[in-house]
Amino acid sequence: MTSGLAGKVALVTGAAQGIGAAVAAALASEGCRVVGADRTRYPGGSRGGGGVVLDVRDSVAVERVVDSVEATAGPIDVLVNVAGVLTTGPVVELRDDDWTTTFDVNAGGVFRVSRAVARRMVPRRRGTIVTVASNAAGVPRSGMAAYAASKAAAAQFTRCLGLELAEFGIRCNVVAPGSTDTPMLRGMWHTEADHDATLRGAPHQYRVGIPLGRLAEPRDVADAVVFLASDRARHITMHDLYVDGGASLRA
Ligand code: NAD
Repeated sequence: MTSGLAGKVALVTGAAQGIGAAVAAALASEGCRVVGADRTRYPGGSRGGGGVVLDVRDSVAVERVVDSVEATAGPIDVLVNVAGVLTTGPVVELRDDDWTTTFDVNAGGVFRVSRAVARRMVPRRRGTIVTVASNAAGVPRSGMAAYAASKAAAAQFTRCLGLELAEFGIRCNVVAPGSTDTPMLRGMWHTEADHDATLRGAPHQYRVGIPLGRLAEPRDVADAVVFLASDRARHITMHDLYVDGGASLRA
């Protein structure tokens, strides 16, 4: 079976760098017209797509951008929610603002953009949505409570949406990356020891490391997204696909 992605319009949030940029490139190489959206920079687009500035925390802007993407590029058949922020720190030191900002982007952004796109997909009775969450949504991590909780919310929201949209033939899935070599991950490392702890584990933090012994590259995550967005996954919905080299020891 072909991927069925050729000629489809795809909207990818958080597309200016890291995993979002890799997803946009991977969808473009499948023949999608990709529109990349990001908060402050115009990400590159492709084949009749383009780039838009969009802060996923802004409901009005989300509706306006989704409208204009449909008017200029065509009906959105593929939405990939990648935009995200990472806030770290022990719970006892987290500020209200750390919590609300993390949820506003990681969970609220997924809600707003998915709602705007799903409203338009439903009458057409076609489309697919993939949310990039995190393996931290399924495994407790010290110093990552706000982030992990926001990703769990995004993942469960996406699966509930998949249930609501199944009758319209619209599939909604989650990709849960582990440590992936992007600016977000590198921003967490301060020494070579931090890099080693990511790979080999940190017993004092109850982290097991990565059994496959390597970090993910953004394209590893992008390949999983493309698969779930493609017709090859036509009978898969409400799934949570972990791409973490075994780090969460999931069955
Ligand atoms: P990154 O920081 O390199 O890129 C994230 C992108 O999202 C940036 O371009 C940023 O500008 C954009 N963004 C942030 N807030 C936004 C907003 N309000 N509106 C629009 N765009 C916004 O991060 P990454 O590592 O490429 O992560 C991509 C996604 O994957 C994130 O959701 C992240 O939580 C998730 N993830 C990353 C890792 C990892 O190890 N890198 C692991 C698990 C999950």
